[in-house]
Amino acid sequence: MKSRLPLRCWAEIDLAALERNLRLIRASLPPHMRYVAVVKADAYGHGLQQVAARLMHAGADLFAVANLAEAASLREIGPGWPILLLSPLLPEEDRYLVEYDLIATVSTSDEVRRFDAVGRAAGRPVTVHLKIDTGMGRAGIWHECAEKLCAEILASPNIKLGGAYTHFAKPDEDPAFTDEQRKRFLKALACCPKLDLSQLFVHADNSAGLDTLEAAGPFNAVRIGLLQFGIVPGRDGLLAHVKTEPTFSFKTRVGIVKKLPLGTGISYGSTHTLRRDSTVAVLTAGYGDGIPRSVSNRASVLVHGIRCPILGRVTMDQTVIDITDIPTMTKVASGDECVIIGRQNGAEITISEFSHAADTIPWETLCSVTKRVPRLYK
Ligand code: PLP
Repeated sequence: MKSRLPLRCWAEIDLAALERNLRLIRASLPPHMRYVAVVKADAYGHGLQQVAARLMHAGADLFAVANLAEAASLREIGPGWPILLLSPLLPEEDRYLVEYDLIATVSTSDEVRRFDAVGRAAGRPVTVHLKIDTGMGRAGIWHECAEKLCAEILASPNIKLGGAYTHFAKPDEDPAFTDEQRKRFLKALACCPKLDLSQLFVHADNSAGLDTLEAAGPFNAVRIGLLQFGIVPGRDGLLAHVKTEPTFSFKTRVGIVKKLPLGTGISYGSTHTLRRDSTVAVLTAGYGDGIPRSVSNRASVLVHGIRCPILGRVTMDQTVIDITDIPTMTKVASGDECVIIGRQNGAEITISEFSHAADTIPWETLCSVTKRVPRLYK
């Protein structure tokens, strides 16, 4: 019944564009590069199962998720799909590696011991990717200590090494440091002479990493999240050669239209006071849907293809916009569609622009669209 109710706030997901994006990214890479599709956090808010099914159809080689719940959800629709867990496991989660047939990330000797024990108990090895910390300071063994951990993995009879990877800290800001991270990674791998890199997934590049992609040497896979959703990370001009399309639009509707006199304070705290007699529209969405409070008085939305500024504080379920400048013959009425992120009548508000107004990044904007918002697939 719920799905038949009129929509007050929704996201439109363009799966055909997603598929085109993967194929385009692929075409921009050397042919031997495999594609690790990063679909954590509900595929960046798009819907894990729908996105993963389409990416698999488009030729993804491996899926990367953050945690067991995501992996289990993926396993439901892809019985044989390879799934890599990027985040560390809790000890009580270890046994699910076998139950769901997952690939774990290894950063510590403790994990090697634990996963070996799980493999021994199950009677079949647990596959892992060795994660090397080359400057991110998060998961992974510090690059100068990788040799010992690598030897421990290779000496563990119930662990199968399937890959090695690192993660860049600032690929969209600092190409020199990214280059240094690549060097540290290669040096660490070279310290493990028993590794047969040709048999492993060797990966470092995320979306922004493609800007300085190193296709030579042992690298044979990329790990792509944001770019497959048509969003270019970081500074303007980055990845200008890969013309992906946005896959995510975020929309709501006009609830009521009303006139208010000059001097009226708008919304909680009256942080905006009308500087003229105004026509405002009250939208049927707020921070309970994923319009962050931080865009209060800062972002604009589209109504009839015209940019209308948000006035005052975004509230949980309602947001006020200024429609005074919309020509009177374009009559705005209750029920009209309003675009928070996306295109309307030739105008566009990109996720990057919206995120900038929210003082955040596109990754967080996508993750902040709440469960209350139905995702519609086309
Ligand atoms: N690899 C790891 C370990 C990540 O944490 C992420 C995203 O946060 C990615 C790859 C994908 O990054 P991006 O979305 O910038 O492509």
